Order: sequence, then C-alpha cells, then structure tokens
Amino acid sequence: MFLESIIYLFIFLLGLCIGSFLNVVIYRTEEEKSFIKGRSFCPNCKHNLNWKDLFPVFSYLLLGGECRYCKAKISWQYPAVEISTAIIFLLISLQATSYKLQAILNLVFWFYIASVLIVIFVYDLKHYLIPDNVLFPAIVIAFIYKVFVNLSFSNWNLIENWKLGIGNSFSILNLLLAVIIASGFFFLIWFLSSGKWMGFGDVKLAILLGLMLGLPNILTALFLAFFFGAIIGIILMIFQGRNVKSEIPFGPFLVVGFFVVLFWGNSLVTWYIKLIQF
Ligand SMILES: [Zn+2]
Repeated sequence: MFLESIIYLFIFLLGLCIGSFLNVVIYRTEEEKSFIKGRSFCPNCKHNLNWKDLFPVFSYLLLGGECRYCKAKISWQYPAVEISTAIIFLLISLQATSYKLQAILNLVFWFYIASVLIVIFVYDLKHYLIPDNVLFPAIVIAFIYKVFVNLSFSNWNLIENWKLGIGNSFSILNLLLAVIIASGFFFLIWFLSSGKWMGFGDVKLAILLGLMLGLPNILTALFLAFFFGAIIGIILMIFQGRNVKSEIPFGPFLVVGFFVVLFWGNSLVTWYIKLIQF
C-alpha cells in the first residue's frame, strides 16, 4: 500500500513535468522552432527562465500567474496542461495490472500517446489545426508497437492487459478495420462538405485513435465525440450567440471521447446495456 502510494505520487509528479514539457512543445510548434534545443524563456520578454521558475504549477502559483521579469500574465494554459497531464498519467497507471517490464513498457507507450493527444487537444482548440509534426510520428510509433505486440510470443501478449479491458491486444486486422472505418467516415464528411464541416486533420487524427482503440471501442469514442460536440455547440449557440456555421474544432472532442472510452468505456457500455434492457 505504502509502496503503491509512492509509485502513484512519482507518476503524478512525472505527469506534471511532462505536462510542462508539452507546453514547450505547443509553444515551439506555434513558433515553428525545434522543441529539443534551447532554454525555456518568457514568451513576452524573452528573458531566460531561472530554475526557480521551472517548477510545474508551483512556480505559477508562487509568481501569482505573472512573469518574474516583465510581469506579463502567464496563460492559465500552462498550469492546466500540467495538471491535466498528471491526472491522465495517474488514470493510465491505475489501468496497469502489474509492474513487470512489459507492463512498464506499455505504460511508457500509453504515456507517449496521451502526451501527443494532449498537445493536439490544446493546439486544435487554439489554432483550429492538428500539427502533423506531432501526429505523424505517433501514428508510425503506434503502428509499429501494435504490430510488435501482435507478433511477439507468449507473455509479451500480456503487454496490453488492462484492468478495464480497453486496449486489450487486438488483431492487426481489427485495428486496420477500426482505422478504415473511423478515418473513412471523417474523410467522407470532409469530402462531401468540401472541408466545411470537418477538417482534414480529423481524418488523420482518426487514424491514430482507430489504431489505439480498435473495434468496437473506436465507435463508442466517435459517438461520445459527437455527443460532447453537440452539447458544447448548443451551449455556445445559447450563450455566445454563435450560429451553426461558426467553426468549432472537432479534434478536442475526439481526444476527450478517446480518454473517456479508455478509462470508463466498459462501465459506460455496461450502464448502457442495463439502460436499454429496462
Ligand atoms: Zn517576461
């Protein structure tokens, strides 16, 4: 119990730090700079940040949400991404059934995919664009990983065992079908509406989500994405007077649908089946 608490605390802190790095990835993608090189600096006054400014969330709170040097307001995006990443990492690690080498490798893989999706969530929300430089490597890595899991022998097949059963090892055929159905669906919408209802970024994002969830989970994720999208769309129409034509990026809803299915998919399906039986 004590050891588990230490592990979860460590994963939470790791999530905060990775979240801080994801903010850098988002910023440098916006500026079209390499996110490997260079020190962190204030986006407003370009002053290099002190080590004291680099603690996720804590530095933000201590500085009262302002830059130490120029007093410019720091966007709440920074602590929000850090805390969200930490919570998602924690939820992912709660799914792991063991701490054997395979399970740890699996954990690292899912942390990576989650990080990519968090960046896409923020970037699409802010710029109505899904950055290829983040998405494409993830599609390639996810494909290689899934093929590896499928081809490997005996206990490596346990690599994807999760408490809730979502993300269990699917056959490559299942995953490819999920990819074709999900991205084919968005491609049709994109094609038929000449890109008005759905961007091409969603077609590409659906490839990654299909690969990660397989069938039938990807369908639940798509359903949830449209469900959340409709709710937010109606709220925006009522409170901000936006009309139906106003653009709302769809990527963030797909990402939320993905995480809900990943963490609560089985409970959702059980609940739904009970609902329609009565
Ligand atoms: Zn500054």
